[in-house]
Amino acid sequence: MDLGLRDKVAAVAAASQGLGLAVAKTLAAEGARVAICGRHSEPLLVAAEAIRAETGSAALPVVADLTAADDVRNFVEQTAAHYGRLDILVTNAGGPPPGDFLDLDEAAWRRGVDLTLMSVVNLCYAAVPHMQAAGGGRIVAIASMSVKQPLRNLMLSNSIRMAVVGLIKSLSIELAPYNILANAVLPGWTRTDRVEQLLTAQAAKRGISVDAVEAEIVSGIPLRRMARPEELAAVVAFLASERASFVTGTAIQIDGGAVQSPF
Ligand code: NAD
Repeated sequence: MDLGLRDKVAAVAAASQGLGLAVAKTLAAEGARVAICGRHSEPLLVAAEAIRAETGSAALPVVADLTAADDVRNFVEQTAAHYGRLDILVTNAGGPPPGDFLDLDEAAWRRGVDLTLMSVVNLCYAAVPHMQAAGGGRIVAIASMSVKQPLRNLMLSNSIRMAVVGLIKSLSIELAPYNILANAVLPGWTRTDRVEQLLTAQAAKRGISVDAVEAEIVSGIPLRRMARPEELAAVVAFLASERASFVTGTAIQIDGGAVQSPF
């Protein structure tokens, strides 16, 4: 199946490593022209070089802190100016810190809202006018399976990502007349640096080994393993593609069956 992504322009947020980088590589491999952002220049340049080496396509690196609205606007504007249009926005950011309710304070909640929710709001405000000008577009938000089934020790993610999914669902309705389709993906446990950190944090908190934490998690996944980042990226690429032309307002799990509910 030809996804129809050739020469589409995609801005992929928080893509110096992990899920964002895997998405940027997959879109570039399908012929899209991609821009990536992250807070630090050095890892971003390394990521752009990895995309070029693996796909033969140059990626535009833009330094941006997603908690700063001006940086977010600049990332999107630079992408549109460099490539002359914007067709695809993939929202993503670093995960909010782990912790249960009693571990957190108001300041942690406010930082979590800025990172996890307001980054998506600001990315969409910046990107939508370009998509309207292009006659359509695709927004794909990387959220988490935690919106369907709360994850242990991840109070901020469990709570704030619900707002992201509500935002995306509402945008899918409001932006449908402009042929802008908006969907969310809900990754389950996927092997990235973030997951290494979460495993270590849980192990320390519970006084057990990292291997024991991982074994416990994997035992709750019907496919009995964590995902590879490319497995999430493949679903994002489909949702971003021409082939997903009647798919909007959905939230799709890529979790190896971990969420127990059928819906
Ligand atoms: P990661 O920590 O490996 O990568 C996060 C990326 O975000 C990095 O490139 C980092 O530099 C960037 N980043 C962090 N804060 C930023 C900021 N303020 N501005 C710009 N860039 C910033 O994480 P990941 O595993 O790739 O996860 C990506 C997102 O998906 C996170 O929000 C995570 O919580 C969520 N998620 C991950 C999993 C998983 O199993 N990996 C599962 C569910 C949800």
